[in-house]
Amino acid sequence: MTVDLHCHLDLYRNAVEVVAEVQRRGIAVLSVTTTPTAFRGTSRLAQGCPQVKTALGLHPELAGQREHELGLFDQLVAETRFVGEVGLDGSRRFAASRETQRRVFDHILRSCADAGGRVLSIHSRSAVAAVLDSLEAAPEAGIPVLHWFTGTARQAEAAVEAGCWFSVGPGMLQTPKSREILRLLPRTRILTETDGPFASTDGAPAYPWHVEHAIAALAELWDVSVSDTAAQLETNFADLIAASGP
Ligand code: MN
Repeated sequence: MTVDLHCHLDLYRNAVEVVAEVQRRGIAVLSVTTTPTAFRGTSRLAQGCPQVKTALGLHPELAGQREHELGLFDQLVAETRFVGEVGLDGSRRFAASRETQRRVFDHILRSCADAGGRVLSIHSRSAVAAVLDSLEAAPEAGIPVLHWFTGTARQAEAAVEAGCWFSVGPGMLQTPKSREILRLLPRTRILTETDGPFASTDGAPAYPWHVEHAIAALAELWDVSVSDTAAQLETNFADLIAASGP
């Protein structure tokens, strides 16, 4: 089964059609959200479509305005084994909320630990070291999957060491530098994603079926066939789900 482990289904203008197409093609999608308030409505989008799972999130770019939704996060965390999009953003644009982001992320990790652990889709732009510090302080939070990783080679090694998985999409396959980083990651910890509709493919918003571009790029990078690559990714997804609990 093809997997898009990080997609903002609720942010497509034609979300209902996208879900229908995902179902028609049999793609597994992790539908991430950016606020706890969005969780219920986004879950309804996936009703009757068991291969779409909805994740409970609080995006670091919104942490500054939405810290008051942590109570709602704690109430909803029992309803899903997937959490995201969560994490930290160290870029200058969000410098004013850095402390709040950290407080929010640490709260979320504790909440996941209290709930018995979750699969976490994590944003770490310009904040890999801080994300790893928070994860280290909450080892029971669950399985961290770093989405759209843009750190250095050394940070990639530290993340692998810390038990992180990685979801790889269009943004990580475009530059020679990011391809070199990808080479450092164990093949058994890689999944595909689009980050649609934020990320784009050929100048248009990426849709879940565009993970086929990531599969083709990984095949080239690993120097194996597309079908062997797809099989490896399918095994990885099964392993991730199995590791996330009964
Ligand atoms: Mn995203």
